[in-house]
Amino acid sequence: MRTLHLDVIMDNQHSYTIAYGSLPQGKHTFEFEVNDAFFRRFEGSEISEGQVSISVDAEKTSRFMALLFGMEGSVKVACDRCLDEFFMPVDFEGTLIVNFSGDAEEEGDNDNLSEDEVMNMKPGDTEVDLAQYIYESICLSLPMQRLHPNDNEGVSACNKEMLAKLQELQEEAQRVRNENSPWSKLSAGSTARTAKRGNERECF
Ligand SMILES: [Zn+2]
Repeated sequence: MRTLHLDVIMDNQHSYTIAYGSLPQGKHTFEFEVNDAFFRRFEGSEISEGQVSISVDAEKTSRFMALLFGMEGSVKVACDRCLDEFFMPVDFEGTLIVNFSGDAEEEGDNDNLSEDEVMNMKPGDTEVDLAQYIYESICLSLPMQRLHPNDNEGVSACNKEMLAKLQELQEEAQRVRNENSPWSKLSAGSTARTAKRGNERECF
């Protein structure tokens, strides 16, 4: 369920709408910028700060408008290894079909459109708000695992103090496990496995 309209009412300083109703058929370009305030609109957002430039190449026909997005910038996320926040680059390209023909386009209805996302507009609508699409696209463009990059010498930029603390906790947990285990002698030499991330991660 989209909560788009509520979000827009709460923050009307920045508009991410395209008023296609009054737009002549043919090609158009639009530019948008999102910043910290944009990400704060979305409750539970994993992104606390960021700056992303969005360019949109639009082509309007009598039945729909095809929007080709290019998004570039960086957003602040928490590192999965040391938990410190850092800026991660954003680079995303995608196509959104805004269908205002009145015939709801089901996914897979049209082979040409099946690769693209389709937003079906209600009859009488004259503009489309792209805030939710932009937010979701930025989230989806980020890798599942978010880690501080290495510097030129190949040294991780992770917070070393925090890593040492995490290591200590891990060793302590391992020690307690070993003490309580009838197999303590066998498992004493085993190394702690790092938790593997599943595919359940979502950012909205
Ligand atoms: Zn880190």
